[in-house]
Amino acid sequence: MGEAGESIDTSVPHPARRYNYWLGGKDHFAADRASGDAIAKAFPIVVALARANRKFLGRAVTFVAGEGVRQFLDVGTGLPAPDNTHEVAQRIAPEARVVYVDNDPIVMVHARALLQSDPRGRTAYLEADLRDPDAILKHEALRDTLDLNEPVGLLLIAILHFIHDDARAAASVRALIDALPAGSFVAITHGTMDFSSPEGVAAYEKMFAAGGTDVRARGRQQILGWLDGLEVVEPGLTLVSDWRADDDPADRPVSDDLGIYAVVARKP
Ligand code: SAH
Repeated sequence: MGEAGESIDTSVPHPARRYNYWLGGKDHFAADRASGDAIAKAFPIVVALARANRKFLGRAVTFVAGEGVRQFLDVGTGLPAPDNTHEVAQRIAPEARVVYVDNDPIVMVHARALLQSDPRGRTAYLEADLRDPDAILKHEALRDTLDLNEPVGLLLIAILHFIHDDARAAASVRALIDALPAGSFVAITHGTMDFSSPEGVAAYEKMFAAGGTDVRARGRQQILGWLDGLEVVEPGLTLVSDWRADDDPADRPVSDDLGIYAVVARKP
């Protein structure tokens, strides 16, 4: 990791380390904690949302594996945490294969060390940016690990809101979906202000403009627009904590400001 190591800057907050901090992990630096605390001060729900997002990841992978899918492309891996994608998938199908993609070199170092596959399946890691989907699709590690003639579960969990340019986000989703065969699934979670008061939206916009958060919230129609031509799986686009949840509704985070949407769709 020599080359990648040179681009690790611990003085700048990184999404993966800040998310790890909110999840209660231990892989974060002062800048990540400061950024995480500042966002949590303005939007206290964010810690519960991060945990609910992680739980959704598990439910979505369980669902997609239950539909018979045996290969996953997880873009925006994050730092290893309980129930990583391959662990969930390989509990259902030990032969499941997972390609992890992230643009944060620290994530890749941890992933290589910790995300070890069941010997019957396979995991691979590649450092690439979602804004360049062709680099992901053409990457040797992907081609060696996934058979793109067989259905794939594409995971875009809590990543697309880091791509601020709308056209770019849409084009990335489209390029990846286009590369997958019929019977593939895509799961997306994304920050939203759809449930916010006008004051909440204004406070969020101000924070975003000042660089206090790097999460670009988007609305229901915009997210569903990415899934044109796909079959959205029941119960549709919901709050992340509500999607096929088995816990008590009282334990699910709700807020009248920041939320996270979740959706799963199938390519017909
Ligand atoms: N999907 C995991 C982790 C979410 S944290 C989960 O939901 O539990 C978001 C991750 O996306 C971080 O690891 C961050 O490094 C990565 N990321 C952000 N923007 C990215 C981009 N443009 N390309 C690739 N990875 C990106």
